Amino acid sequence: MNLVLMGLPGAGKGTQADLIIKDFNIPHISTGDIFRAAIKNQTEMGKKAKSYIDAGNLVPDEVVNGIVAERLAQDDTTKGFMLDGFPRNLVQAKALNKMLEDDGRQLDAVINIHVAPDVLVDRLSARFMCKNCGASYNRLYHKPKVEGTCDVCGGHEFFQRDDDKPATVKNRLDVNIKLNTPLVDFYKNQGILHNINGEQSIEDVYKDVREVLVNL
Ligand code: AMP
Repeated sequence: MNLVLMGLPGAGKGTQADLIIKDFNIPHISTGDIFRAAIKNQTEMGKKAKSYIDAGNLVPDEVVNGIVAERLAQDDTTKGFMLDGFPRNLVQAKALNKMLEDDGRQLDAVINIHVAPDVLVDRLSARFMCKNCGASYNRLYHKPKVEGTCDVCGGHEFFQRDDDKPATVKNRLDVNIKLNTPLVDFYKNQGILHNINGEQSIEDVYKDVREVLVNL
């Protein structure tokens, strides 16, 4: 099962991604996670990506396409994969089709989780993470059970990702919205786009996602 999970930043891609990979046992390939790991490890690629990410801009296509091509060449993707955060524009989408085609593969479905932009600004600016283990929380929807203590590791220090700060969030959304529409049309024309209402509970969103995937 070769999937792309789409949705603007904050639409709940990460949460749905976790549910999908556990349920269907396929690797989760998140370009955002790959960049964050590279920045943490201070690799050359991480240093290059950091300036773009901190400003709420997209990393250049040739950098992202190269990273995805390397990842899709790994053996664990032969039985299927789920891309999250990639492609973000038509250049990347076409590059992905070519990569797969050259390898005798193709996409089976694109899951697009839709949430209205004003809801996304509120959601994203409210997001914060545990400094120790990276667990993700949200002041609006998902606070730690005990205030100031991480549910996962018991840590007490939290931080907000630079790209979740309000000024950056608006820029990040604007950049993504502009690019998102042609991408949605591209996959719609290919007949593999599935729109999901992301303004429901996590469980109900997943129910709709699962319904699509079991019927592929
Ligand atoms: P995400 O966690 O998917 O929101 O990604 C965080 C940041 O990484 C984005 O705001 C971009 O700067 C960068 N990024 C992730 N995926 C891509 C991509 N496919 N193309 C360009 N930049 C990306």
